[in-house]
Amino acid sequence: MSTPALTPTRILLVTGGSRGIGAATAVLAARAGWDVAINYTRDATAAEAVAAEVRALGRRAMVVQADVADEAQVLAMFAAVDASWGRVTGLVNNAGIVDLPARVDEMSLQRLQRMWAVNITGSFVCAREALKRMSRRHGGPGGAIVNLSSAAARLGSPNQYVDYAASKGAIDTFTLGLAREVAGEGVRVNGVRPGIIDTDIHASGGLPDRVAQIGPSVPLQRAGTADEVAAAVVWLLSDEASYATGTTIDVTGGR
Ligand code: NAP
Repeated sequence: MSTPALTPTRILLVTGGSRGIGAATAVLAARAGWDVAINYTRDATAAEAVAAEVRALGRRAMVVQADVADEAQVLAMFAAVDASWGRVTGLVNNAGIVDLPARVDEMSLQRLQRMWAVNITGSFVCAREALKRMSRRHGGPGGAIVNLSSAAARLGSPNQYVDYAASKGAIDTFTLGLAREVAGEGVRVNGVRPGIIDTDIHASGGLPDRVAQIGPSVPLQRAGTADEVAAAVVWLLSDEASYATGTTIDVTGGR
């Protein structure tokens, strides 16, 4: 018996798609037949470059500026995709931030609130808006959501960013709970838990040498690439993953 196609149209929104894992996911998803809306906050030029790569692969691309921590901006972003292409059938909750290394007893309330707002609330609000468009409960065709977690959720990141690690622990629970909540509505929800991946995020957290320092100590003896993480994300989005929901895949080189 053949597996029924669960994703009738392939319209994907990738949050934080202007660089790193989000950009790699946008391009790999285009190869897999998705039209891709690329969200970013600051760097429109980088987002446009990713859009050009998607178009070069014969798929549609659009760029949408929105801070996922700002509900009004998220609503406007989904409305922009609706107006151009119709309902999204895929969402990758990829936008995420770290902060400078600090102990918990040094963390300001402002820092904690921003961490939760981007990494947790942003993912919840984007998923909520995606579900309104995907879920059969809302007349949608079904779809797939992939949340970016982190190995930090298991490791805790002491003396570096326990707040970030805890935000990703919340994402793991969110993935499990939401998956079970909407499993009967044609929507699958999964996560990917990257280890140390060679992107700009480490420099943004004040640790530009983090990849060089930690990479050799990983069981596979190197840091991973954004493409290696994107491969897992795009598989989870695909109909090949039709029986996977509520799971989070480690892409950590064995760490
Ligand atoms: P990155 O290189 O720092 O890229 C982050 C992306 O998110 C950029 O496109 C950025 O856009 C966007 N962004 C940041 N804040 C945003 C906001 N408030 N609203 C919308 N977009 C926002 O990060 P990455 O390394 O690719 O990481 C992607 C995801 O994987 C994150 O969730 C991260 O926690 C997770 N992860 C990464 C690693 C790793 O080692 N790299 C490991 C584990 C998990 P602008 O540049 O325009 O601001």
